[in-house]
Amino acid sequence: MSTKRWVPSRFNAISKMENGELVLYNSYTGAIASISAEEKSEVMSALKKEGITGNLPENIQALVELGFLVPETVDEDSRASFLHQSLHRTDTMHLILFPTEACNFRCTYCYQTFPQGKMKPEIREGFKRFLEQKAGSLQHLNISWFGGEPMTAFDVIGELSESILKTVKKHNIHYSAEMSTNGYLLTEESFRSLLSWNIRRFMITLDGNAEIHDSRRFLTGGGKTFDRIIENLKAIKDLEEDFEIFIRINFDEDNLNEIPTFLTYLGNLFGKDPRFQIFTRPVGRWGGSNDGDLPICDSRVAETKIWEFTEYGLNSELNMSSSIESALMPTGSVCYAAKPHSFAIGADGQLYKCTCSLDEDFNKVGNLLPDGSMEIDYDKLALWVTSGEEKDAVCQSCFYRPACQGNHCPLYRFRTGNRPCSYEKRKIKQVLRLIWQQNSLNKGDETNESNQTSRFSTSSR
Ligand code: SF4
Ligand code: SF4
Repeated sequence: MSTKRWVPSRFNAISKMENGELVLYNSYTGAIASISAEEKSEVMSALKKEGITGNLPENIQALVELGFLVPETVDEDSRASFLHQSLHRTDTMHLILFPTEACNFRCTYCYQTFPQGKMKPEIREGFKRFLEQKAGSLQHLNISWFGGEPMTAFDVIGELSESILKTVKKHNIHYSAEMSTNGYLLTEESFRSLLSWNIRRFMITLDGNAEIHDSRRFLTGGGKTFDRIIENLKAIKDLEEDFEIFIRINFDEDNLNEIPTFLTYLGNLFGKDPRFQIFTRPVGRWGGSNDGDLPICDSRVAETKIWEFTEYGLNSELNMSSSIESALMPTGSVCYAAKPHSFAIGADGQLYKCTCSLDEDFNKVGNLLPDGSMEIDYDKLALWVTSGEEKDAVCQSCFYRPACQGNHCPLYRFRTGNRPCSYEKRKIKQVLRLIWQQNSLNKGDETNESNQTSRFSTSSR
């Protein structure tokens, strides 16, 4: 008989479902598993602090394979530190491009000042050269189109995308791309072009029904936007292609009570189509000139409402954003601003780490030059990439450490001195329940009927 002892990982979280099942999560492996009511007591017994020895039955062996049980000799803190080193991989790069910093909207809570128009031709050439120079050492490239409103510079997106596609093909690089857009210019025709450029994930904000949305998210100079965005989304829904559209709903005290009705409306339009997914967030004081007047929610209300609305969305047959489950994966909650090989490139070639504090000097970490080189201020860069768990003992002992690394929002930590714990971590039990609920809805009763430890989501690390 084996004398090896297995103990529960300190990166586990457990959530109990109303029907007696359990959902287990491990932030180091990214495994999420459902445990049937019949298996529950055996599994809970194996996960007791004192651990388990001997030859393990098949279902308990599965807990080892998924990382819920680890050998008692394992130093999990060293594993977490090692995982942190993976952010320094030089074969992976994430770039956030501002094809323009201008916007066709003026949202009440916006923090941007729109100083630059379209990306200058010499910066576009600089970007192409930069990528060509880097490409030989890259395996993964992720591009996020941002702004301003990126779709007002559709020609720049096209020009750069064609160049990116040529480069990634030549160097056999795995390439993915996404876009944050207000959706106003997202016609079926332009959407087809975006898909042909491999831009397949979109974040579009709608803040409520037409009246509410139009009072908060109007055109520059005034003018309604809701009906046109909805018409665009309906036309896109008729396409056969694969894509993901996260419909982001920003809420505050003013629109809070209207969100459930709005979710029902969205459910009628996009329910049961897994390509359309909802994502709700409280409006914050993000640095805009209107900040003092914003009716933001109390933080406790905000935290509760995010998940209440998500559940309401699920009950309206809407999927929740896949970004929520992705956030639970190893390094999944680390902001790009904390990653050494991630830069935001402004329309004038200015390099930033964070996309929310564009006017702050400490966020201006360098410049992209027309010859394709990057001039970087390494002291400023170091500030962003070393401000997390390295110096924070509480983060080091947190069960969510591998997912967050104390780096969910470096800016929040700089500004407040507090830990930037993510909404997912703060309500992890509820989030696991929602993930379970979504999986149950999408897969029928497959997980409910299983007698085996069922792995329905794992990391691809
Ligand atoms: S540092 Fe914070 S505010 Fe800036 S991009 Fe990251 S999460 Fe957003
Ligand atoms: S910031 Fe919060 S969630 Fe992230 S590692 Fe630290 S304590 Fe954990």
